[in-house]
Amino acid sequence: MNLNKNYANVNDSYLFSTIAKKVAAYSADHPEKKVLRLGIGDVTLPLAPAVIEALHSAVDEMAKKETFRGYGPEQGYDFLRDSIAAYYKERGVELDGDEIFVSDGAKSDLGNIIDLFSQDNVVLVPDPVYPVYVDTNVMAGRKIIYSDATEANGFLPMPDYSVDADIIYICSPNNPTGAAYTKAQLKEWVDYANKKGAVILYDAAYECFIKDDELAKSIYQVEGAKTCAIEFCSFSKMAGFTGTRCGYTVVPKSITKGGLSANKMWLRRQTTKFNGVPYIVQRAAAAVFTPEGRKQIAENLAYYEENAKLIANTLKELGVWFTGGEHSPYIWLKCPGGMGSWEFFDYLLENAQVVGTPGAGFGVNGEGFFRLTAFGSKEVTKEAMERIKNLLSK
Ligand code: PLP
Repeated sequence: MNLNKNYANVNDSYLFSTIAKKVAAYSADHPEKKVLRLGIGDVTLPLAPAVIEALHSAVDEMAKKETFRGYGPEQGYDFLRDSIAAYYKERGVELDGDEIFVSDGAKSDLGNIIDLFSQDNVVLVPDPVYPVYVDTNVMAGRKIIYSDATEANGFLPMPDYSVDADIIYICSPNNPTGAAYTKAQLKEWVDYANKKGAVILYDAAYECFIKDDELAKSIYQVEGAKTCAIEFCSFSKMAGFTGTRCGYTVVPKSITKGGLSANKMWLRRQTTKFNGVPYIVQRAAAAVFTPEGRKQIAENLAYYEENAKLIANTLKELGVWFTGGEHSPYIWLKCPGGMGSWEFFDYLLENAQVVGTPGAGFGVNGEGFFRLTAFGSKEVTKEAMERIKNLLSK
């Protein structure tokens, strides 16, 4: 046998392990100091009561012969796909049930979808970037080119017609920068993709944080997107499912090339390589869309949004440049005093005992920037902001 040599080209990810090592070393030297963590991209609030109730009742169904379920449809039960279709309809997006595929989360689908595309396709990803887009394509041996997200363009790069790309990744609201595209900006990307015959892989994992109607919750709110865009979404950040695992991908039937249909291929791929999300988890996900579930989830999101506001207001007060925070749980700030990302990480850890994520870990353009998240507790966020204020206003 031969092993896939492309794996040798995947960069080792030292970002979170280096952070953990630095924090552990600092805590060992200063056991009396309380370290506050605003670095993680994971949620902290528990599942909503409506979700827990649905889980319990689904478990009870599994305990009875009459209601027990074995293998389900690979692409998800109709009760959940119908709820997702109704969620899209609220924003004026009409989807057929068989354009929606339920999965165990956006990460798996983002990694698996590239099975559908030819290996010689050129991939365009923004820099800085959620590393999964890059690593999955390096594993597959594809050529990757980058679009620069910088302070100058508000970390929202726009299409460049002199660049030819076949597969385009867009994440909005963005991880790590928190920046979100307006519908008008996305229309430019959709026009570019349709003109070039490219596909947009649109990661909407953070759409639940969008409150402004000018911004897109779904790329299908933009005319022309159904012929060029596949959308990935997740219950992870919307409803705290990071450990429960459920997401969905929309593959419109109108994405076709050379007599092949992306929708049919994805169905074939999923039915061949995936056996569906657990029934109890799909029931839990469907509970997110009930009136009770919606209300409870809105309360959880409001909790994180308050944290984001607190971080954003502190940075505004300090005159620190940042993006995100308003329609995103991420705040992406410019390291003060021209510090590098890791320099600022050490400075914050040593002088305020606050942990964030160095922007340099997300790409070349992340150098000199730093990510804070609003997923912590209110108390920790408040204390961290007081410490940062004291430190940076000195
Ligand atoms: N997409 C982005 C941009 C993310 O930040 C994450 C998780 O942090 C994911 C996808 C993965 O989501 P899931 O938990 O649904 O796999």
